[in-house]
Amino acid sequence: MKNKYSLGFFPTPVHALKNLSREFRDHQIYIKRDDQTGLASGGNKTRKLEYLIREAMDQGCDTVITAGAQQSNHCRQTAAACNVAGLECHLLVRGSDPGEYTGNLLLSTLLGAHIHYTGDDILPEDVENLCAQLREAGCRPYYTPIGGSTLTGAMGFVEAARELKEQLQAMDLPIDQVYFASCSGGTQAGLVLGKALYGLETELVPVSIEKPEMEEAGLEASVLEIVNQGREALDLKQSFSLQDLKLLGGYDDAGYGVLTQNEKDAIQMLARAEGILLDPVYSARAFFAMTDQLSKGLVKTGSNILFWHTGGLPANFHYGNALL
Ligand SMILES: *Cc1c(COP(=O)(O)O)cnc(C)c1O
Repeated sequence: MKNKYSLGFFPTPVHALKNLSREFRDHQIYIKRDDQTGLASGGNKTRKLEYLIREAMDQGCDTVITAGAQQSNHCRQTAAACNVAGLECHLLVRGSDPGEYTGNLLLSTLLGAHIHYTGDDILPEDVENLCAQLREAGCRPYYTPIGGSTLTGAMGFVEAARELKEQLQAMDLPIDQVYFASCSGGTQAGLVLGKALYGLETELVPVSIEKPEMEEAGLEASVLEIVNQGREALDLKQSFSLQDLKLLGGYDDAGYGVLTQNEKDAIQMLARAEGILLDPVYSARAFFAMTDQLSKGLVKTGSNILFWHTGGLPANFHYGNALL
């Protein structure tokens, strides 16, 4: 198993959502609190960054480059992780300088990351140019793509599957389904691998957050690529197909980051039932999908369901009153 660089507080808690379970009477609902990983307001990227930062340091790099949307949680967490490890952080961020910083972009700025705006798209040459520029200035850059979704990053979630398995064993709690948001695929790939490696007995239900473009191969194909690399690295006998990586779709029609009544309802429901805050882009969409499946009777009566909260709190402060 690869070494990691400690950045968060693990294991994150698993607990029952008692009030919510009372509302959905036929099911018991639990939550895994990766919103509480502790790194600059937490989130699932902490787990990936423990492995990515280790790899950057093992390669003798002194600078980390990553990319994302303006409200990227991954960028914010990478900026914080670099500070812990004493590395420089450069972020390639979509769009242009908004002048006024909110949510994650505000926090990435406060954390001291160097932010480069790329316009509408982040192109491979944006990465190449920045790497070349930094090398010329005497830096040794390490690049990790959007969401940190390489096999190295996914290793954080391979280990998260072991963590959950141990918690469920200690609680004597069988879980039938685990719902979580899947977007760049590292979380899903890691959980799929970890489930196979450690024998975590539960159905994984990854919820699609970003609808793929017509011609695109889709997220399942990128997840399969990481899973196949991991299968080899971990010496797993089991093989995987696109069928094993199927996302729960139908909740992503509005597009990435576009707020609909679904996300607003989900945020209010969990906030008011349990005092737990979701984020408008990822966890609210996935949480809505879970409650919708339950409401429509699509989940076996009597099931124990676990929602994996992947974090994202700061984005709420960007969306502001639109959430109300
Ligand atoms: C990045 C992110 C996800 C999605 O994880 P991937 O590994 O990119 O699929 C889910 N929730 C939040 C809050 C995130 O920041």
